[in-house]
Amino acid sequence: MYSEDDLVPLSALQHFLVCPRQCALIHLEQVWLENRQTAEGRVAHERVDGGGSETRDGIRRVFGMALRSLRLGLVGRADAVEFHPVPFPVEHKHGRPKVGDEDRVQLCAQALCLEEMTGETVAAGALFYGERRRRTEVNFDEPLRRRTEAVAASVHALITALVTPPPPEQAPCGACSLAPLCRPDDFRSQRRSVAEWIAARLRLPEDP
Ligand code: SF4
Repeated sequence: MYSEDDLVPLSALQHFLVCPRQCALIHLEQVWLENRQTAEGRVAHERVDGGGSETRDGIRRVFGMALRSLRLGLVGRADAVEFHPVPFPVEHKHGRPKVGDEDRVQLCAQALCLEEMTGETVAAGALFYGERRRRTEVNFDEPLRRRTEAVAASVHALITALVTPPPPEQAPCGACSLAPLCRPDDFRSQRRSVAEWIAARLRLPEDP
């Protein structure tokens, strides 16, 4: 179990899966740069993060619902949670479905928070992509649950280590708003191994 002081944002899981260095820059070094894509996503989220609730067709919907899991050490908000009456999280995403499973992991993390908070089994949720304007249902099966737990543990290990890793070779730097701060090409041109880089970062100043 984690303490309240050790909780990390749910969004860190998605950042970690996209690029561990991006996750460390945002959640460890607390840096952020916006580009057009992130700005559009932020504006879209501001609409659903406004809070409130409604009941339509017998289903209650809570918007911007606060979530927390002490078991996984996570805190954040769900864009919307529908109560059928079993909780059913719905996450709004700007753009189109991604190749990776970062959106599914983030949604599953919301479900695991809801299970811990309500004691109910949350079997499914949905991702709503703005570009397609329709839902994709996600079943929270065992492999997805185990992967989500593993990613949460990796994020905590990254943050506890207090070391920002170097740029991965396959990172999607072209679409990353942090590239001007991260300078992945400069870093890679130095061609240092990860071990060398970490050793350099941790080297103590010499005695006078
Ligand atoms: S620029 Fe590339 S390496 Fe740097 S944080 Fe973004 S995705 Fe990761």
